[in-house]
Amino acid sequence: MQCSTCNEKAVITHPARCKTCFIHGFEERVWNTIERFSLIRPEERICVAASGGKDSLALLEILHTRYDVHALCVDEGIAGYRDQTIDDLKTFCEQRSIPLKLVSFADLGAQRLDAQNPDHPCSVCGVLRRKALMDYSQGYDVIATGHNLDDEAQSILMNLLRNQTHLLERLGPRTPAQEGIAARIKPFYTTPEREVRAYCLLKGITTNFSECPNVVKSFRWKVGEALNDMEVGRPGAKLAIVENFLKKYYRPQQAIASSQTCTRCAGPSSHELCRACRLIVVNN
Ligand code: SF4
Ligand SMILES: [Zn+2]
Ligand SMILES: [Zn+2]
Repeated sequence: MQCSTCNEKAVITHPARCKTCFIHGFEERVWNTIERFSLIRPEERICVAASGGKDSLALLEILHTRYDVHALCVDEGIAGYRDQTIDDLKTFCEQRSIPLKLVSFADLGAQRLDAQNPDHPCSVCGVLRRKALMDYSQGYDVIATGHNLDDEAQSILMNLLRNQTHLLERLGPRTPAQEGIAARIKPFYTTPEREVRAYCLLKGITTNFSECPNVVKSFRWKVGEALNDMEVGRPGAKLAIVENFLKKYYRPQQAIASSQTCTRCAGPSSHELCRACRLIVVNN
């Protein structure tokens, strides 16, 4: 098969692309997404939330060519998984002279995720990881994450299935800064997960593509599988979900209002203690 752009030998199908054209097209879409949604504004200091998995390595690979990015990694304490991706991340950042800061759940006063052994590990992990990113990204204007099209379509559908439409306002390509907390941006907002994987392979980015052992226990996993089936029967389904969400719900300038602050950490909270502090207090 030939590349439909330049007639070289194609290495990717749907659409057929040679290595050079695929990499160029992939990176162009990221720059276009940054421009379309005004994700990065002049003079903003950028911190990339990096786990060492394929999405965050690909994001660092692209952003560091135009911006002075720093990487921030949260070690949740997941044996046999996170240690490996952190090793990959350290090597990657050293090779490109990207400053890397490592923090762990212990830095929050919480136990390793493994030691907590929760019934729903992804819920606990997500709350504490967000808290760590919030606390340790002070001094940056934006936190860039490797969330891709598949992740966003899953998040939208999960909120709809749980009848939590009020949480949809927290999604979108750029979540505004609020009260000392950096804005969050998703430069892979319209990039399918399978293309991130292909980009890493073709660029020779060191990553073992391992998955967290807890992922199969999550609701997100089930929704992701259903979406993959839907995409096979109806190509473009994930993008349609995301584009329709943008039209109906996305309000880029609207900061999320929190009615009160947490009495323990002073972070935004709708209760006396924020969710992260409740978890930390219960586990100590
Ligand atoms: S799959 Fe769940 S437990 Fe594993 S890193 Fe992701 S959120 Fe955390
Ligand atoms: Zn080509
Ligand atoms: Zn708190």
